[in-house]
Amino acid sequence: MAGSFRPFGNTRLRRARFIARPNRFLVHCQLHSGERIEAFMPNPGRMDEMLFPDTELTVIQAPTSATRRTQWTCVGLERDGESILLDTHRTNAVARHLLESRRIPSLLGWDVAGAEVTVGHSRFDFLLQQGRRRLWLEVKSCTLFGNGSAMFPDAVTERGRRHLQELAHLRQTGAARPVVLFVVHSLRPNWFLPDYHTDLAFSRTFLAVRPHVRVLPVAIGWNPDFSLRDESRLLRIPWSHLQREIGDRGAYLLLLRLPEARALEIGRLGEMQAQAGWYIYVGSAMAGLDARLQRHQRRRKRFHWHVDYLRDAAAEVVPLPIRSSLRQECDLAAAVGRLYPTAMPRFGASDCSCPGHLFAAGSTAPLDNPAFHLLLQQYRMPQPRR
Ligand SMILES: [Zn+2]
Repeated sequence: MAGSFRPFGNTRLRRARFIARPNRFLVHCQLHSGERIEAFMPNPGRMDEMLFPDTELTVIQAPTSATRRTQWTCVGLERDGESILLDTHRTNAVARHLLESRRIPSLLGWDVAGAEVTVGHSRFDFLLQQGRRRLWLEVKSCTLFGNGSAMFPDAVTERGRRHLQELAHLRQTGAARPVVLFVVHSLRPNWFLPDYHTDLAFSRTFLAVRPHVRVLPVAIGWNPDFSLRDESRLLRIPWSHLQREIGDRGAYLLLLRLPEARALEIGRLGEMQAQAGWYIYVGSAMAGLDARLQRHQRRRKRFHWHVDYLRDAAAEVVPLPIRSSLRQECDLAAAVGRLYPTAMPRFGASDCSCPGHLFAAGSTAPLDNPAFHLLLQQYRMPQPRR
């Protein structure tokens, strides 16, 4: 569309198919011309709910620099018919455009007076001005969404938590209430929440600084050519839902990888002929959830739960907390059971009537299965309750 904002200017955008992400900063992909390339990934997030084999990526060719291993950069992807901007190096340019074109309802009267402004030991993305009043603003890019909600961060961010605290301290300098602007790259969500499942410390700080920091989550959309769409809107933050659900309690999934087939003695349950591959265990701790997950990650000499025997033989253990005030362990086990077969009758289900709480996922890691991510989002991003 003529005249609309384009963060990449006239740079030629190319399409490629995702193959693999060997590390946080690199993706392997294949251009539509057939050429296989490596591209820099300018986004530190996990994004494993979006990056599957054959996902359509958008890449650009950047001038080669001595410090860069590849001349390609992955700037976006296609998910369920939506184009999503991944390049966090463009987030501030997008934010500046939204501010200057007066597209953020609560900041209409403010002008950009500076960028990358240092205050004491901290640096903030923007300084805004209205007459003699000043306002600091920090920008974050959000690409984690599903089931009507957007969440941030998708990986633990101590830096993000510190930014919230530093913004809160600025309030005491007498300036206007500082703002943290979350640019949400999808028009589908209605709600915004900190991801208290993944980063409890960030989320607690998010809640604690509420009196001192204003949070503005703005949903925007991109056309397939990465020009900005005309629609945008502020998302609602369900504060009371957050207050109730944020806590060190709830259910969890434990992903375990057994490197080779072997017979395991599972306490009184007896012998399990375990195949090599991935297993999913469903448990809960309605108090002390983090301590429980830490316990599962350590190898132990004395076994207490059925899963301890399997954990002892596992080469990888991935904990996925689903924090909630509700008891949903057996409900969750039933949902996992619709995707994967029960691995051993009664495993982890001594106190309930479920067929079992351990499931066999085979050779494909559950985190590489789109259906597994949908299940995870359904439980991690429930409709906020009043
Ligand atoms: Zn059960």
